Order: sequence, then structure tokens, then C-alpha cells
Amino acid sequence: MSESAWLIKSASPAGGPATDLLLRDGQIADMGALGAADGARVIDAAGLIALPGLVDLHTHLREPGREDAETVETGTAAAALGGFTAVHAMANTEPAADTAGVVEQIWRLGVRAGYCDVRPVGAVTAGLAGSQLAELGAMADSRARVRVYSDDGRCVSDAVLMRRALEYVKAFDGVIAQHAQEPRLTDGAQMNEGEVSGRLGLTGWPAVAEEAIIARDCLLAAHVDSALHICHVSTAGSVEIIRWAKSKGWRVTAEVTPHHLLLTDELAETYDPVYKVNPPLRTKADVAALRAALADGTIDCVATDHAPHSVEDKETEWQVAAFGMTGLETALRVVQAAMVDTGLLDWAGVADRMSVRPAAIGRLTGQGAPLHGRPLQPGSPANLVLYDPAARSVVSPAAHASRSRNTPFARMELPGSVQATFLRGEPVVLGGKLVASDGQAASDSQLAARERQSQRGQPAGPEPVR
Ligand SMILES: [Zn+2]
Repeated sequence: MSESAWLIKSASPAGGPATDLLLRDGQIADMGALGAADGARVIDAAGLIALPGLVDLHTHLREPGREDAETVETGTAAAALGGFTAVHAMANTEPAADTAGVVEQIWRLGVRAGYCDVRPVGAVTAGLAGSQLAELGAMADSRARVRVYSDDGRCVSDAVLMRRALEYVKAFDGVIAQHAQEPRLTDGAQMNEGEVSGRLGLTGWPAVAEEAIIARDCLLAAHVDSALHICHVSTAGSVEIIRWAKSKGWRVTAEVTPHHLLLTDELAETYDPVYKVNPPLRTKADVAALRAALADGTIDCVATDHAPHSVEDKETEWQVAAFGMTGLETALRVVQAAMVDTGLLDWAGVADRMSVRPAAIGRLTGQGAPLHGRPLQPGSPANLVLYDPAARSVVSPAAHASRSRNTPFARMELPGSVQATFLRGEPVVLGGKLVASDGQAASDSQLAARERQSQRGQPAGPEPVR
């Protein structure tokens, strides 16, 4: 339980009429026109929008194995600064998160850092090697209670394995998150296949390499009546396939990244590898289709695909540079620029696409005491972000908490500013700055209590898996 109370004055929940919010004991205790509350510290939030804490379905935290690029601590600090209160940590670590031991280690590192909840994603195949299923049931039964599985970075290209994975996770309401990339069609690919790749002489990455896998997996999910989530959708054709699958009532959900909502393949003309990403930046027509699909709900949510890389891996020639961009600290600002300032989505829509729906897809709404993705109302957990939509500033990677600097938005002017992030009623960000974590100083009993809190709202207890 939290030890303090906070009175937030005149915030606009999801862009609605201004109101006061009293946070006490980790919950939203009261809302309305509130006077002074006993012992509560006061925050003037006039002009600020209050949103439920953002949830990211797709974050690469790089620990264990590539702590030179990111750690759970630096990555979750970046998440908190971006307004996130929960992130799903992708499984392509070294070693891969393919056993109960590794996912519990990552979950514990998240609890210790204390900036936001960390939900480990389990690997679909052992060692992400694509040849045999990982210990899906053991990860589900572990203290990390994994429900989302992905070989992200690699596609589960074997149709039989994909079918088996989809069948297996039904026993515990799991979901398979696919990185849709037909490997043979993208052999050596460097950027989107199209006019620009032709001009630059870089090997192209055809849209069909993504669309063919999405179509196949929608059919497989329907065949076994299981849940498929499609990572980082990047083409107009993919949107059409997802729309068709949803019209059938199949259990298919999808995400889009902030960078695919704002940037196009023309940026490759700079040969700056900061724009090299998987899936690649596409065309203006694709960006328009992705925005429309997020607005109409065909694409369920925004996910960052935050992919930090060391300077050595990223600041080199295009052909050998790593794929990936950071995104946690700019996501909400980019969504404002691409979706809100363009009139495609209002703030209630942003709350839905960046908190409510990703929490549901990530199985964070749980039984009993849901922690994330709840509308801001009395009785809800006090996980929320205060955001200034009228601010504007130039993105400065040097100011980011992420250990890596590979943001494609560097030197761009973007709207908005995250002013405060509250996790279970306690500020982790205030005045746009990180509040120092007490993770390293916390006692064992404090950490044990925090572990219990972190598990509230997760699927209840070990369940029979087979
Ligand atoms: Zn991916």
C-alpha cells in the first residue's frame, strides 16, 4: 500500500471536463470538485490530460545479455518517462526468455527497479530457433505468469509449429504474438521494396512477405480457435487481411508502432541507419492506411517496439547496422502528432488504444483486481499519466533515460510532454523528471510486498495447464 496521498487538481480525464482526483492507498479514492484532503500533497494539473497508465505490448529491454544497449532499470525508467505503467518485455534476450527461470529473473528485475510493471513475454520456440516449442506451460505456471508468447525478431515460419503453439496456449488463455516476416522473401532485405529501394539500390523487403504470414496465421488461429496477435503491422495490405479476419469473428488482434504512423521509406535516402527498422518504414499510402485502421479499431493498439541498440551496432554503414529504434519516451507525443492533431483520434481513443486494449490483449485485466487499462474512476488502481498536449519541444536523445540513443525523432519538434506518471498511487515521474527509485535500497520484505502487489491483477495463481 502507498504511504502517501496525492490530490491532483483540475486534470481532464481522457480529455473530458476538468476534475480533481484524490489518490490514496494505491487507488483513485475520489473524483470531483474536492477540497483539501488530509495530508495529501497537491498537484496543479490545470490544462493537463489524465490518462490511465499506458501499457506497451512490445518492448525490448535487452537484459539479460545486452546490458550495453539497455537494462530492465534503464528501459523501465524510459517507459515511466513516456507515461507507461506496464511493459511487456520481449523474449529475444541472451539467453532467450524461454524457461520459467529466465522469465522469473526478468520479472524480478522489474519489481526491483520499481518504475513500472514488467510482464515478460515467453519465447514460442526453444532458443528462438524455430524448431521446437519452448516450455510454454512452465512459463505460464511461473511467478511471472506469462500469457503472451513471441519469437519477436524472428518469425515462427513453420506452419506446423505455429499451429501447435496456438493450440497449446488455449489451455491457459495465452496469445501468440507473431513477427510476420516470411524469411525467404526477405533474405538480405534492407528496406521497403518499392520506388525508393530501386533508386538507392538496396535490397527490397516486399509487403507480401508480411501479408502472406498474416493471412496464413489468421487462418491457423481460426482453424484451432485460438488467439493470435500480430506485431507491428506495417502495410496497407496487412490492414485489409486483418479487417477480413475480424469480420469473420476470429480471435485476431494487431498493433502498430508510433514510427510506422509518422515516418516513410523516403528517409532511407539519407542512408542514416537510425531509419533502419524491422519491419521497414513503408510508403505514404501505407501510413495513411495504418492511421485509418488504428482510428477505426481494425488495428487494436499502439505498441512501441522499443529496440535499443549500442552505438557500435547502430552508428555504422546502413548495410551492416542493426534493425530497430527506441520509442518509449516519444510514443505518446508521436501518437498526438499522427492521430490527435490530425483529428483522427480523440484522447478517449488514445486511452483505449494505448492502455485499455493493450492491457486486455496482454491479459493484464486479470481476475479480481485488475491493475492496468482501467478507466479513471473511483476504485480504479492509481496508475495514470498527466500529459500536457500544449507543450512542444525538440526531441533530444541525450536527455533520454534509455541507455541507447537510436531514436528517429531526434531533432524533430514534437507536441506534448509527459508531466507525471503514477504507479499504484506513487509518483515515478514528477515535473517531467524521474523520481529516484528506491529499488536498490528497499529491504527484502519491502521487495516481497512489491512482488505481491505486482502480481495483483495477473491471472490468478498457477492453473492446470494441460
Ligand atoms: Zn518484431
